[in-house]
Amino acid sequence: MRIDKLLANMGFGTRKEVKTLLKGGSVRVNETPVKNGKAHVNPEEDLITVGGEEVEYREFIYLMMNKPGDLISATEDANEWTVIDILQPGDQIFDPFPVGRLDKDTEGLLLLTNDGQLSHRLTSPKKDVGKTYFAEISGEVSEEDVAAFQQGVTLDDGYVTKPAKLRILEAGTVSEIEVTITEGKYHQVKRMFEARGKRVEYLKRISMGELPLDEELEPGEYRELTEEELSYLK
Ligand code: URA
Repeated sequence: MRIDKLLANMGFGTRKEVKTLLKGGSVRVNETPVKNGKAHVNPEEDLITVGGEEVEYREFIYLMMNKPGDLISATEDANEWTVIDILQPGDQIFDPFPVGRLDKDTEGLLLLTNDGQLSHRLTSPKKDVGKTYFAEISGEVSEEDVAAFQQGVTLDDGYVTKPAKLRILEAGTVSEIEVTITEGKYHQVKRMFEARGKRVEYLKRISMGELPLDEELEPGEYRELTEEELSYLK
């Protein structure tokens, strides 16, 4: 790829700013100064330095966030704060986007990446990747609800959900449950409970596929996935 594109992608400024940087002579490829932005480099093999500091180029970024219950999972919005707004500028330059959506008031595991293929694999209903949620429900969740979720629930628009695994952790006037779904219809978990005459009071995603939320992350915190975690998803 062109050196000016690589440097712009890595946050060294606009194409124009990068041109000035290159002219200044502080960019070296394999120890040789490179001043022409059109010069081609191989980010996998070439040693690229700016002012003596190595530039580690990579194409993809994979972040795990514990989404707080007051941000929308979109890349930008005219009126509301998004999950992208709270990322460090050094991470924003990769143009990550949320993998699937969580409602504004839903907390928990949200992946952010610029890897479209991985995102598709995780969100396509055809791929059957389970998403598990912890929820507090007003009303007593029963074994009939478990059976209904297993069977498929008819939502308000007539859509019948795929089988979902519902586990009762505590039944009472406020029940605690875990539910695993393999689709991502709009407000799906909330609407599944509504169809059973119950209300979701609190919702938190705790895993996607084999990847659990790192409980060390406070709401609003995020970190990069480890190689091992990434391998669970691929
Ligand atoms: N189901 C919902 O109702 N909301 C979410 O945010 C995720 C799943």
